[in-house]
Formats: sequence, structure tokens, C-alpha cells
Amino acid sequence: MHHFQYRGDQLMCEEVPIDRIAQEVGTPFYLYSHATLTHHFRVFDQAFADIPHIVCFAMKANSNLALLKLFADLGGGADVVSGGELYRALKAGVPPGRIVFAGVGKTREEMDYALKSDILMFNVESSEELRLLNEVAGSMGVKARVAIRINPDVDPKTHPYISTGLKKSKFGIDISVALEEYRVAEELPHIQVVGVHQHIGSQITEVTPFVDGLVKVTELIVKLRQRGFTIDYLDVGGGLGITYKDENPPVPRVFAEALIAVVKDLGCTIVLEPGRVIVGNAGVLVTRVLYNKSTPAKHFTVVDAGMNDLIRPSLYGSYHSILPASRKAGKETVVTDVVGPVCESGDFLAKDRSMPVTDPGELLVVMSAGAYGYTMSSNYNSRPRPPEIMVKGDRYFTIRERESYEDLIRGEQIPPEL
Ligand SMILES: *Cc1c(COP(=O)(O)O)cnc(C)c1O
Repeated sequence: MHHFQYRGDQLMCEEVPIDRIAQEVGTPFYLYSHATLTHHFRVFDQAFADIPHIVCFAMKANSNLALLKLFADLGGGADVVSGGELYRALKAGVPPGRIVFAGVGKTREEMDYALKSDILMFNVESSEELRLLNEVAGSMGVKARVAIRINPDVDPKTHPYISTGLKKSKFGIDISVALEEYRVAEELPHIQVVGVHQHIGSQITEVTPFVDGLVKVTELIVKLRQRGFTIDYLDVGGGLGITYKDENPPVPRVFAEALIAVVKDLGCTIVLEPGRVIVGNAGVLVTRVLYNKSTPAKHFTVVDAGMNDLIRPSLYGSYHSILPASRKAGKETVVTDVVGPVCESGDFLAKDRSMPVTDPGELLVVMSAGAYGYTMSSNYNSRPRPPEIMVKGDRYFTIRERESYEDLIRGEQIPPEL
């Protein structure tokens, strides 16, 4: 369910015609619906109401401060994967006690920053990381709360780039050697073991891989407790998929029921790290048609947003539905590649898409762009990044300004010796 629907022939975001926002802020721009974000967060959170839990929103999906503040106000926390994300979370007012820190390459500086901030826990991915964390915590005279990320070796049946729980993956500790890793942690005086973590991948559209992973992790928790470890937190990661085209992922209630059935007797606080499922369909990218171009082989619709703004189609071959902001009657259908201005053949938003012909100046709305959209954007081709706009009811707010040419060269210097 989302609040991007046609009223007559006008595509609206809640109560505001997208066309009107485009006239006022220019194109391209990202657009989010406050009501959709709120609804998605609440539905997910309430699905787990029967057990103690914390929803730590996975910030890498969308790290805008306004969104983080919204989720924090709804009782959410944050799953961070860098010092920069931790900085954003704290700036947005996310309580440190609801922040977890993941990632295979945490630096000494990032550990120091997170320990000073007194976050809930580190999700640790290797013995060397454990030892460094112990050293950093020791030098500060504190103990680091730790969950070890377990790789349960399950196939999430998603794109290989976003599968993280297979045996050959760089993530986590292989479940077959997990007990040894916990023994390493036990020997370290400045490490306090508090939990177990898993995260098996992203855009997962079935419940089975989550349940299979959790069954293995639950067995591990039983063994750990027999050996005297205190396991208060079970972090089940994120990864629940959304509908981009015709996928049929379980709704949060169904997902939650399946997970709760596995974990309910453990007495752990369940940490959840949803990203895409909260924000994916709560945001769109709005772009303007610049030109139609036909070659002997193909038809192209050239628009003013490119792979630097939304890289998912180029990077993963992802499908995003593309809709006109104003529907026009009697248009012929054309099979076209929707491409951006970037000087790469990989710069496309859609390939061989059958859609109504659009004239220069018309607006196209790239749907399901709220997750891994802006956060993966770049300045490639020295293109200023687009603004982010949030609609709330019949009003809209700029939650990040469009970059200027000056922003593009900020920090650059030409040494006088040159
Ligand atoms: C990316 C990531 C998530 C979020 O994944 P989604 O598919 O967006 O829900 C959660 N936890 C970790 C550790 C991640 O790396």
C-alpha cells in the first residue's frame, strides 16, 4: 500500500499533484510520502507486537535525517554500517541504545566513535575485528557489547550481489565454527557477549530462507547458553522484499508469524533491521523527458535523470515501473529504452519498456525508488545530485536541497606549486 495514486489523470503523492511539485522544484527529484513511510513502519513494528523487539531501520537504504527522525519518533532505532551513518543517526535523534553497528570492515576510529556514543551493540564479523574492538574498548576502560554475525549458509534466492548468507560470502562467521568464535570473545576482557546476529540478503520474497537461517541460529543459541553464554538479543537482520513488478513477497504479518514461531520460546529481545520494505515503495524519482530518439535499431526516451541518480537498473538489472505524471488519452504505445544523459551505455532506467509515447517536457515517475536510490547516487559526470522532497498531506517540504555547481567542487584545491 502506498500513497502514489492517480486522481483523474494526475499522479498524486498524497494530496499533492506531482506535476505541481516539479514545476516548483525542477527536475529530477526524489519524492517521499510521509503517510506511506509511517504506515510501513507501523505495520512492520506492530507485526512483532507479541514479542519484545526493536526495529532498527537499515539506514543504508535511505539515510535522510528527516526519515530517520520520523522512524525514531515512531520508536525505531538504526542499523548503521559506518561512522558516517552513526553520525547521521545521532544527528537525527535516534537514541544510542537503539543503534546496532554492522559491517566487515569497521575501523578503529569507527569503533571508538560507537563506543563513546554507547550504542546498543556491535555485530562483529571476524576474530580480528573482535580483538581490535577489545583493544579499543580496553583503552577507553569500557566493555563493548557484541553479537556475532552468523552466516547460516542458506540461499535467499535473490540477486547474487545482495545475497549475504551463503557459504562463499564475505559476511559473518560460518555457523560450523561459531562456537569457537564465541570462545574467542569470552577470553577477551573488554568484550561482553550479548547476542547473535544474522542477515542473509536483500529483496527476499519468500519466508523459507529466513526461517531456515533462524532455525540454525536458534540451535546455536541453545548450545551457547548450555556453555554459559548470556544471549539477550537475537538480531534477525533485514532483507524482506517488496513488489517492484510482479513479485509477491509475504506481508509483514505473515513474515512475523513465521519468525515468531521459531524464536518465541528463546526469551530474547528480537532486533529487526528492515530497510527496503519500509522505504522502497514510499519514494519515487521524478524526471522530465528531454528528447525522443530513434535509431534504425531502437527507440530511446532520453530523460534528465540518469544512473548517477538511480543506479539500481544499471547495477542489478532491476525493474522499476515508470508512469506518466499526467496521463494523456489516445497516445500510441512504443517500446523504448528510458535512458539518462550520462556518457555510459549502462545508463538506463528501463530497457525495452512498452509505454505510451511521451513528448519532451512531460514528466515520468520512476516508482519504488525510496530504497537504495538517493543513498547510492553519485556525482558521476559532474551531475549535481537531485533534491529530496517529502509530502505530508497537502503540503510538501524540501528535506535535502539540490546540489549546486559549487557543491561539486567543495574541498577541491589547486596547489599553487602546480
Ligand atoms: C543491507 C542490510 C540490511 C537491510 O536490508 P534490506 O534488504 O534493505 O531490508 C539489514 N542489515 C544488514 C546488516 C544489512 O547489511
